[in-house]
Amino acid sequence: MPIRQLPEDLINRIAAGEVVERPASVVKELVENAVDAGASRIIVTTAGGGRNLIRIEDDGSGMDRDDLVLSVERHATSKLADDGLDDIRTLGFRGEALASIGAVAHLTISSRTADATTGLRIEVDRSRKSGVAPQAMNRGTIVEVRDLFAGVPARLKFLKSDRAEAAAVADVVKRLAMANPDVHFVLDGADRSPTNWPGGELNGRVMQVMGADFTENAVPLATTRHGVVVTGLAGLPTYSRANSLSQFYFVNGRSVRDKVLLGAVRAAYADFVFRDRFPAIALFVSVDPAAVDVNVHPAKTELRFRDAGGVRSAVIRAVLDALAEAGYRASSTVAEDVISAFRAPEMATANSSPAYSGEELRDSVVEGVATHSASFAPAFAGLAEPSARFEAFEPAPAETFPLGTARAQMFENFIVAQNGDSLVLVDQHAAHERLVYEKFKTQLASGPVASQMQLIPVVIEMPEEDCGRLEEAAPTLERLGLYLERFGPRAIAVRETPALLGQADIDGLVQDLADGLAEWDSSDALADRLDAIIARMACHGSVRSGRVLRVDEMNALLREMERTPHSGQCIHGRPTYVELKKSDLERMFGRTR
Ligand code: ADP
Ligand code: MG
Repeated sequence: MPIRQLPEDLINRIAAGEVVERPASVVKELVENAVDAGASRIIVTTAGGGRNLIRIEDDGSGMDRDDLVLSVERHATSKLADDGLDDIRTLGFRGEALASIGAVAHLTISSRTADATTGLRIEVDRSRKSGVAPQAMNRGTIVEVRDLFAGVPARLKFLKSDRAEAAAVADVVKRLAMANPDVHFVLDGADRSPTNWPGGELNGRVMQVMGADFTENAVPLATTRHGVVVTGLAGLPTYSRANSLSQFYFVNGRSVRDKVLLGAVRAAYADFVFRDRFPAIALFVSVDPAAVDVNVHPAKTELRFRDAGGVRSAVIRAVLDALAEAGYRASSTVAEDVISAFRAPEMATANSSPAYSGEELRDSVVEGVATHSASFAPAFAGLAEPSARFEAFEPAPAETFPLGTARAQMFENFIVAQNGDSLVLVDQHAAHERLVYEKFKTQLASGPVASQMQLIPVVIEMPEEDCGRLEEAAPTLERLGLYLERFGPRAIAVRETPALLGQADIDGLVQDLADGLAEWDSSDALADRLDAIIARMACHGSVRSGRVLRVDEMNALLREMERTPHSGQCIHGRPTYVELKKSDLERMFGRTR
């Protein structure tokens, strides 16, 4: 075939492939246009997960006849001066969103400027443009998108369920609403019950979007470094979540997913939050617009910093400073002493006996345990006020077990046991998690997991998207002994729970599952996720830390651990016990021969 210039509608469809990936990306482009037009109120309406209808109404500047006609042309924008991309202060600038949307849907734009006597309307149906017609309306713009991807079966095939697409729309709107707290946002339509967020201060918006739970468990960020201004709220480590949906990143008012920022936050929390948990955070970064390139990808959610290292260190500093301020809220000084003894050998030896080095101690502590000190130290991070529970002393029995005989329970979570020549410390919560996990799997192998009725169904209020996901997952969860059903638009009723979990923390369990489902967000693959679901359930069994155990219960746990495969590590890969040999203890006290 000879080379030829492609026709415009084909060019637009090719571009649409990049800009318009799914309904949520259409919503993002249109809301950004409304923000750029100076709107003070934006109403987002969707139906059929956005496939049937997306409608964005704003009260911004509006467009006159010439602009309206130009707006749907490719590379037509009012936001870029001829001399370039170096100083972008608007959300849009590429001039291709409306043209792209018009190529893969039925697009209607109605608009009216402040001084016009009437509004005007233009329609584009798969790149075929209509003439301009009058339209009665108030100042502003209404964009309607119908039958998205109706002519693009390849794209339709990749869309998820209406519910999942509607949840993605809600996520996009949340991020735009956080970036523009002064704008009144309404999210409406057949896909959900309405959300209404009047405009105001940033803190109020963060509370509307992320919930009062978050703002109560977060500390303010305020650091300026290398010309990078970092503000927002950082969640306490103890308030971590099971997925990254509670992480919000903004650069110069634009919601982004940027590796530099993600990496910086992960690094800042590395010592406080386990690998499989995600801190909640609302992070706002301001830099000189000339120091960042947002023209990396058509969706504009990726960017490139000129000084990535400077941004990274500013973010890490901001988070660490904020968490240091909040230190006393997260853990007690006793726990910190324990942690530093294992983590910073030079500190530990400086004020105590020189006879052992922290390094040696640490090596001996992790002996026989699969994981290493890096993941060992944080296991102490959750220690509460010092409290101990000593059982009446009984002589060591003749029979010896690998994990020893229980002697005491410390901090309502650590079992102190003794075997022939070692002191054994067991993290009862971690150990119990593993045991429950293994039992789940054994039971599941021979049919549905046994459940127990709740006398009164437990009703849990949650965001609508979460309720939808749980409802959809209900048949799978029933195989695991968890029976729940929808209870109104924003609540779930739990009727039966897995018998294995005992008096489980039902709220926490259901919230964690919802987080997991949101992360995976493809219900058809749920059957492949059984292990992950079971792991989450096991976390919420009855012998969490904080439960006082009798000596016989402790010994039963130890014996069960000895019988159960993998019981040396909890399901998150951390050790469930450590063993200190008598010689280790002697070394600690300088009694080495
Ligand atoms: P871009 O936002 O990159 O300029 P778009 O295709 O999204 O490209 O929009 C093209 C142009 O149409 C914009 O530059 C703007 O002038 C105009 N426009 C789009 N949406 C609105 C709106 N809601 N209100 C006013 N003008 C708008
Ligand atoms: Mg735009």
